[in-house]
Amino acid sequence: YQGLPEQEAFDIEYWLLEEAKLQRMPKPKSLAGRVALVTGGAGGIGAATADRYLSEGACVVLADIDQTALGATLDNLAGRYSKDVVRTVTMDVTDEAGVAAAYAFAAVEYGGSDILVSNAGIASSAPVEETTLELWNKNMSILSTGYFLVSREAFKLFRAQGMGGSVVFVASKNGLAASPNASAYCTAKASEIHLARCLALEGAEAGIRVNVVNPDAVLRGSKIWEGDWLEQRASTYGTDKEGLEEMYRNRSMLKRSVLPEDIAEAAYFLASDKSAKSTGNIINVDAGNVQAFTR
Ligand code: NAD
Repeated sequence: YQGLPEQEAFDIEYWLLEEAKLQRMPKPKSLAGRVALVTGGAGGIGAATADRYLSEGACVVLADIDQTALGATLDNLAGRYSKDVVRTVTMDVTDEAGVAAAYAFAAVEYGGSDILVSNAGIASSAPVEETTLELWNKNMSILSTGYFLVSREAFKLFRAQGMGGSVVFVASKNGLAASPNASAYCTAKASEIHLARCLALEGAEAGIRVNVVNPDAVLRGSKIWEGDWLEQRASTYGTDKEGLEEMYRNRSMLKRSVLPEDIAEAAYFLASDKSAKSTGNIINVDAGNVQAFTR
């Protein structure tokens, strides 16, 4: 600080030392004291979202129909976080009583909950002539009705707590843009998006925010891309899993594959106070998908 008066040079030195000290101090966690219930939390996008929330200090209840996968995810998270901050509950989102029981469990374990990530889902479709009523109803019941049931329970609790809350729907780019041979899935996903808008309107006065993350194809880490859906998409587009990933990457504006962590980051933003003035909105995490962009 040559040329500066002695006092001014001292002040700058002091300020720089204080700054360096602040940088070294542990940062306050942005979700400390929050409790999130994550449906479909046993794997894929749900587990990545739970991980992100835990890293920001939240307690998380992983709710899923797959008990074995819940155990494996818990073991994985337990290696990095205290066992006190994660719980699992086996729950089917189509079962009214089961959903209420999962919320009761969260209340017993953590005294309540103020974040819901509605994410549990399947993907299964066919050309419309081959779409049985059973297949149509399966999509509607797990996706559309399942999202309604978990949100209704969250709303009851959030209102009773009187502290607002955040609901994050993991819907799909397919809820905005049509996809070939997938009418059941696309229609169910579109209904989730509209449900979110309706609930955003209903919850606003009580400080309950409802927003949507729309992933485009997330092939890595997702069980959806191991079963029927993979076969159906492979047959529709005439390629295998690697070919599909390449196709989705190439059709995106950014030419990048979307990963579970990318969805988790958007779901974190929407759950946290960083998005305090956002409700009824959608974040498309699709590396720039022209189809969805034009709607
Ligand atoms: P995933 O199969 O890895 O995870 C879904 C989880 O939901 C599974 O653990 C499964 O056991 C659970 N589940 C299924 N039915 C359930 C039920 N009835 N009750 C409770 N849990 C149930 O798939 P993912 O890719 O992580 O998908 C998560 C969400 O993201 C889904 O809603 C899916 O539609 C949506 N999505 C995924 C993609 C993608 O390409 N992976 C793209 C767009 C949207």
